[in-house]
Amino acid sequence: MKKLVLLGGGYGNMRILRELLPNHLPDDYSITLIDRVPYHSLKTEYYALAAGTVSDQEVRVPFPEDANVNIQYGEVTKIDLDDNLVHLANSSPIEYDQLIIGLGCEDKYHNVPGADTFTHSIQTIADARDTYKKLNNLQANSIVSIVGGGLSGIELASELRESRPDLVIKLFDRGKTILSSFPERISLYVQNWFSKNGVEVYNEANITKVEEGFLYNHDEPVPTDVVVWTAGIQPSKIVRDMEVEKDRQGRIVLTKHHNIPNYEGVYVVGDCASLPHAPSAQLAEGQAEQIVEVMTKRWKGIELPEEMPTIKLKGVLGSLGKKRGFGMMADHAITGRIARILKSGVLWMYKFHKG
Ligand SMILES: Cc1cc2nc3c(=O)[nH]c(=O)nc-3n(C[C@H](O)[C@H](O)[C@H](O)COP(=O)(O)OP(=O)(O)OC[C@H]3O[C@@H](n4cnc5c(N)ncnc54)[C@H](O)[C@@H]3O)c2cc1C
Repeated sequence: MKKLVLLGGGYGNMRILRELLPNHLPDDYSITLIDRVPYHSLKTEYYALAAGTVSDQEVRVPFPEDANVNIQYGEVTKIDLDDNLVHLANSSPIEYDQLIIGLGCEDKYHNVPGADTFTHSIQTIADARDTYKKLNNLQANSIVSIVGGGLSGIELASELRESRPDLVIKLFDRGKTILSSFPERISLYVQNWFSKNGVEVYNEANITKVEEGFLYNHDEPVPTDVVVWTAGIQPSKIVRDMEVEKDRQGRIVLTKHHNIPNYEGVYVVGDCASLPHAPSAQLAEGQAEQIVEVMTKRWKGIELPEEMPTIKLKGVLGSLGKKRGFGMMADHAITGRIARILKSGVLWMYKFHKG
């Protein structure tokens, strides 16, 4: 029996499983899925877990049960491409015939002193739980600073505002305006929501240092009780340690068919892969579909197209608490309640119909 090993049960590899099961895996293949946590974690909802507005159970989806899938829980420590081995902490290495690396990403601290030690994270489910504990144990009038005004920083700031009206919330963003790469209507809508709801937004911020009780914006100390870092990501350390070609963000450069050059049976999916779009769950899923198409054709000996089609993205949706949202759908800016309803609908579909 040949072994297809999937590293990481995130959005990318869950889509791979959905496409392959129950009928598209060759008879002489079995799948081993390796993850450090015993369920698929809904990373797009970690902001709500950290803010305390959804329960832990709501951000978990069980891994599929299938006779051809063996699930192994453990921490991947190293990938050895030349010996076809995946090394795990506290257990023997796993051999593979084909491999899909989908280990996601981690925070990137841009060499800001103290950021790795004195800030909290929402990049893993364990980090999001720790951040929840820290934020929700704060006394009234404590100051929370969120560094990074991208989608996750905005969603966390607004969700926390609704969850804890007693806290002082500061959001530090590098741009001239919040969401400066979006149409002005969206940027203004989000900015107004923050003004109306008492979230202090600091534009053109540059966090130069973080230490216990303070962060430094342009070297000016700002007293703070908790700092949450949402100001950048990089691929998993396991991937960063691999000696293969990477792009400037540290993501693995792939062939047009999503495998590592010279390793036809090793694919990379999602946040670890160098793709022509910003990393997202949607992109990971779109890429996963193409990987399954490539693998299936290779298994059947069918010639592959020179180029794979461009991965189509449906748009972006962000929440501002439980009642308002914003987004871009088919190049149209949407704001308000409808955007929030759409976002909840996408999550519901994912969890109960497709997840
Ligand atoms: C707060 C927030 C909001 C977001 N909102 C959106 C959104 O609205 N829309 C959108 O498209 N994207 C959104 N994203 C981005 C999206 O979550 C990621 O791009 C997506 O999760 C990437 O999927 P992936 O399969 O590459 O990895 P992930 O989904 O991150 O999965 C990686 C898996 O690997 C496992 N793992 C990692 N390292 C190891 C190891 N060493 N050993 C064993 N297991 C390991 C993890 O447990 C995890 O299950 C958001 C991200 C955040 C943080």
